[in-house]
Parts: sequence; structure tokens; C-alpha cells
Amino acid sequence: MATTEGFATQKVNRLSSMDAERADLYGGPSVSMPPKHLMASPLDKVPTIDSDSDRSQSEEDVLSSEDEQALATPMTVPQMTVSDDFALAFDIDGVLIRGGEAIPEAVEAIKYINGDNPYGVQVPYIFLTNGGGKTEKERCQDLSRQLNYEVCPGQFICGHTPMREMAERYETVLVVGGEGEKCRIVAEEYGFRNVITPGDIIKTRQDTTPFRKLTEEEYNNSRELDLNKVRIEAIFVFADSRDWAGDQQIILDCLMSVDGQLGTRSATFDQGPPIYFSHNDVVWSTSHEHSRIGMGALRASLEALYQAVTGKELKTVAFGKPQMGTFQFATRLLGQWRKDSHGIAHPPSTVYFVGDTPESDIRGTNEFNEIAENEWYSILVSTGVWQQGTIPRFPPKKIVGNILDAVKFAVEREQQKIHSKKNSALLGQTDQPINL
Ligand SMILES: [Mg+2]
Repeated sequence: MATTEGFATQKVNRLSSMDAERADLYGGPSVSMPPKHLMASPLDKVPTIDSDSDRSQSEEDVLSSEDEQALATPMTVPQMTVSDDFALAFDIDGVLIRGGEAIPEAVEAIKYINGDNPYGVQVPYIFLTNGGGKTEKERCQDLSRQLNYEVCPGQFICGHTPMREMAERYETVLVVGGEGEKCRIVAEEYGFRNVITPGDIIKTRQDTTPFRKLTEEEYNNSRELDLNKVRIEAIFVFADSRDWAGDQQIILDCLMSVDGQLGTRSATFDQGPPIYFSHNDVVWSTSHEHSRIGMGALRASLEALYQAVTGKELKTVAFGKPQMGTFQFATRLLGQWRKDSHGIAHPPSTVYFVGDTPESDIRGTNEFNEIAENEWYSILVSTGVWQQGTIPRFPPKKIVGNILDAVKFAVEREQQKIHSKKNSALLGQTDQPINL
């Protein structure tokens, strides 16, 4: 373990520059430097040590009672150390946040992994959500408020984060989804030079969507286009559509056009621009007692619609979990974050990923574990999409009740590893012949 002393926060460098080949689409963008006021300073985060060595109440605790006795709770306050051997990655909706509010155990869980645990261990962590619709900085500010702990853009990936790199490839793009102008702002911040929204197209040709009229605010924010000059090179669904009917009509018009020129129709229906979705979650967890349909449902709907209208199959691309490229990007972000915030240069042996959706979180973690050089350990919680009493479509390595159980399980499992190593070393010594 590395102590936190003597470490100075360093500049976050660009992680990679990807050629825009289709196979590399998930390679990830540059990582923005966390603003100073958001940059966590480990030295500022000296936790109080919990006198009660509260054990995880998980369903299948890996620790035996013997192990637990052996893992003696420190009697004195230990010096806080940073674990350099394992790390955590969290989904957000249904794990930490639900319906815009922190899940009750989330605040305690974040304190726990920042050192407020019986071992005084601080564990580096990142967030990996399929959600989006705001800039990473804005989303981190929301999360910091909800969790009562500073979250930095340098430890955060949302569904559309990997789209940043696509700005090098496409100049004029149609950006769909999100509230008001927010996704246009995100896309422009990513570097896209000419960002068109469905509102711009409706303002220019009001009969584009017969049943959708712009509000006064939408009309004022939207930009009139010269349709003879506009050629949409790619379509990006950044966040959930607020108007499925209107957005699908406009997306279909683009897909069926010749080279993205609105008003034209391809005779072969294979001349339109590509379409990218920031993730493919069909459902997601909200304050409603049942999961709500999300972007993956829009994608399925569009593919069916395209088939029905043109007789052709629509090929779409989705970022986010469970795509392997998203996990590869998470690996690089985690490495950079561990280095910049904790001074750790080597990769963790184990990354525990905590999620609520078997189809994205658990599937992605398990599949990435097969190809990753280190261990990716999937933990499923029951505070979101997955409901207890049902069989998860993609089985996790561990099922627990909530995020606090999950982090306690991870820390205890790692403590057990340390304990086992020490025991093995001791046994190895006693196996040697004793010379009297
Ligand atoms: Mg979730």
C-alpha cells in the first residue's frame, strides 16, 4: 500500500489519440484536467476511523468466522493508507443514485472507501455510467452534491464521453436527445464544429414534424439552416430523446438521404450517414417502482422502423457498457486517476465493478475479465434494475443488497488476501528445518 504523504497532484495528460477506424470507435477521448476546486486532495481527506468493525451483510460472505477473528480490527487509529492493489468502479443510476437522490447507503459507502473503515484504507475509484445529457464537469458537480463528496471529471465516464474523439472525424453532425440545448453545448465542448439539433430542422421546415411544434423557448434557441448547404455527416444520440416521434422522423429522413442532405431520398437506402448511440440500455432505474425504457429502446425502435420503411437492415453503433472499448477506456482512465491522485504507477490486481444491470454492468465486467490482464470482479446490487428473487441474465461473481455491502465485501476480500499471504509466508518459514 502507498501512503498518501508527500504526493503532489500532477497534470492529467491526453491518454490516447485514436484513428477513427470503426474498430477503434471505443478507444476513448482525451481526459480533461479536473478543475482545481474539484480536485480531491488525499491529504485533506483524513477520515475518522469507525470504531465498529461492521461486517458486510452480503448474502454469501467469503470470510469464515476464523478468518474474521484473524483479521483483527485495529485497536488504535491506523495511518491512512491508499490501496495500490485494488480499485473500484461504480455504475451510478440504481447503484448510488435513484430518482435524482442518493441511495441511503451511498454516502456512507463513499466515506468508507475514502478511509472511514476499520483498516484506514483509502481505495481509488472511478464512475462509469451509461447516462449523460450534461458535460462531465456538470455531472460531477451534481454527483458531488448528491454524495456529499467531491467527484472529479478525471474519475468519471458517461455514455457519450467516448464521442469526444469523433469530433476529429465529423464536422457537421445531428445531435439528438437531452434537455433543451444541453447536448448541443456538450457536443460543441467536445469540438464538433457544426452541431445541428432536431429543433434547427423543425424551425427551418415546420412541416418536418406535423405533430410537433416548437415552444417559444425552443424556437428562439434553434438556428435556421440553409438546407441546400447542410450535409449531415453523422448522427449522434447523446441522451434520451424527449420526443420520440419527432426525433425518429428526423433521424429517418437523414438515414434515407443521399449523403446526409436533408430533402433528398436515396434510391438504395444505403447512402445515409452513420448513427451512433451513447449506450444501449433498454431499461434503466428511476424513482418509479418499475424500470423505465431508455435509449436502447429507441435504438430497437429505429432499427425496426427502418426495416419496415426501407426493407433494409439498419446498422447502428452503440458506446457505453457492455462494450469492451468502454471498459478499455475505463482501464486507462483508472490508471491515470490512480497515478494523478494517488501516485500509483502500476495497474491494480483487481477492479471491483458494482452495477445494477446484468445486461450492461455485469455482462461487460465478466466479458472484460476474460480479456483483461487483471481481474475484473462483478458485483450486482438489488437497488436498481435487477430485482431480488429473479435470476440475472448474466450472473455476477457476487450479489449483495446495496452499495455499502458491495464496498465492504471488496475491502474484506482484499484484507483476506493480505491475511492469506502473510499466513503463507509464516507457514513457509516454519516448514524450514530448525537448527538447534
Ligand atoms: Mg444502473
